[in-house]
This record gives sequence, C-alpha cells and structure tokens, in this order.
Amino acid sequence: MEIFKQITPLKAFLRDLKCHGKSIGLVPTMGALHEGHITLIKASKARNQVTVSSIFVNPIQFNNPNDLIKYPRTLEKDRKLLESVGCDVLFNPSDEEMYPKESVLKLDFGHLDKTMEGAFRPGHFSGVGLVVSKLFNIVEPDHAYFGQKDWQQFAIIKKLTEELNFNTVLHSVATLREPDGLALSSRNLRLSASERQTATVFYKALLRAKDALQQGKTAGEVKPQVREFVEHSPEARLDYFELVDSKNLNAIENVQQSTTPIMCIAGYVGEVRLIDNMFLD
Ligand code: AMP
Repeated sequence: MEIFKQITPLKAFLRDLKCHGKSIGLVPTMGALHEGHITLIKASKARNQVTVSSIFVNPIQFNNPNDLIKYPRTLEKDRKLLESVGCDVLFNPSDEEMYPKESVLKLDFGHLDKTMEGAFRPGHFSGVGLVVSKLFNIVEPDHAYFGQKDWQQFAIIKKLTEELNFNTVLHSVATLREPDGLALSSRNLRLSASERQTATVFYKALLRAKDALQQGKTAGEVKPQVREFVEHSPEARLDYFELVDSKNLNAIENVQQSTTPIMCIAGYVGEVRLIDNMFLD
C-alpha cells in the first residue's frame, strides 16, 4: 500500500494511473477503522482497479471541541487493517496540509443541513461538505463509497456532487452491525462496558418504531414512545427521532407519504454521541 501525507505527490501518482485507464474508488474516513469501514473498501475494490482510503479527522466538522480531542486515533492499527484487505493507497494528511490557512468558506445545503444532525451540530455539514469537496478535487475518484449509517451525510454529499458537477458516482453501503444490533462506529471504542450494553437502545428503538409505524401509527404518536424507551436507560439520552423521506429529508407523518421512508435516530450514551437509522420497506 502506498502512503501519502501530501497532496502533490498523491495527485501525481493518481494521474499516472488514470492515464493508464485505471478506475479509482475513494473511501473517505476519519480512521479508528472497523469492519464497517472495511465493507466500504471491499465495495470499492470490487468495482475499481485502485482503491484510495483517506484517514483525516477533519477539525472543521466538529462543533464540540471535546469530541474532536477525544475522537479515537489508531493510525498504526488502521494502516495494517487497510493493508490486510488490499487497499492500494492511504492518504493521511495533516491538518496543515488540508488547511494551510484558516478556512473561511461555508456551505449551506438549505433544508438538508437544518434538520436532524444539522440542527444538533451547527456547522457540521459545512465542514463535511468542504472536506469531501477537497478530497474529490485531490483524488478525482470515479466512484466514492459512504456508509448508510450516515444517511443525512450521504444526502448532502449527493447534493454537493450534483451542484458542483463532480464527476464521481456515489455509493451508499449498508450499515454493518454487531450481533446485538449496535451499528459499528469508531465512537463505540469510547463506551464503558455498561455503556456498551446500553448502546443497543437506539437500534432496539428503531425496531420498535418500525413495527408501530408499519401498523399505522403516526410519527407524532411514535416519537414520545421512542423517547420514553430510550431514556428509560439512565445512561441514555435522545437527541431526536425522525421519520423522513430519504430523498429530501422532509419530515413525514406516516409511511405512505414517501416511497422510501427512513427513520433516523441520535442521542448520547454517557458522553458518547451515537446515530443510527433504518429504512422502512
Ligand atoms: P467515519 O470514519 O466515521 O467518518 O466513517 C467513514 C465512512 O464509513 C462513512 O461513510 C460512514 O458512513 C461509514 N461507516 C461508518 N460506520 C459504518 C458501519 N457500521 N457500516 C458501514 N459503513 C460505516
């Protein structure tokens, strides 16, 4: 695996491969890699001759400074894992390489970044949009792979790609879960043993909500039940539960109002913020 910390040599390396007609897949990550990330790498490898993974803990997408400080960093382990699954290129820039000067550009995605994560994490999606734009300009990938777990992020990157005419096909990859349903996340590393047990509450809440919605209950009826269920665990706190149309993230009251409804949930277990979602079929 080739490792680059700087943009210029990475671009030169990739330009050469592109001249030889190789298709490039990009998997952007913030590291502390787990099997969920690896499903994205495998999806890229199945379709592209060259897979580039980036590891960059993007400071400007953290609205909470403590969350940035405590974000797990396991570079050496990540490198070995990427190598073991045949990732071709690792791009691991420093903050200074990505932001040589203070970044002033702000991105506004209209309703898409005002709801759910956007409402609870002001500025988060502007930071995500900016770093993904940079990575797309640096790597110029033919395909890019994202996890369904961050569905709102995917909707926003789709809008970004359309509006800025990036020549990249986007793929959303199904969420990988632990056997008890907890979505794999780098942040799970920060959970204590008892918090780890509690953390399944969001997945369980989604399953219960799915049942209720499919039986004809409205989102308005289900929301307080979800809150009560989550907050029944003393370590857990709900930020939001929303039923939305997965295409435009507009809130809907019942499952008939969209052909592709999705439930999104977020909250805390102890000090660790977790998100999850589930489509209704
Ligand atoms: P992160 O390193 O948390 O920024 O995540 C990098 C990419 O991996 C994002 O596109 C995430 O949506 C994706 N991802 C994170 N967790 C999972 C998971 N459990 N299953 C599949 N993809 C995931």
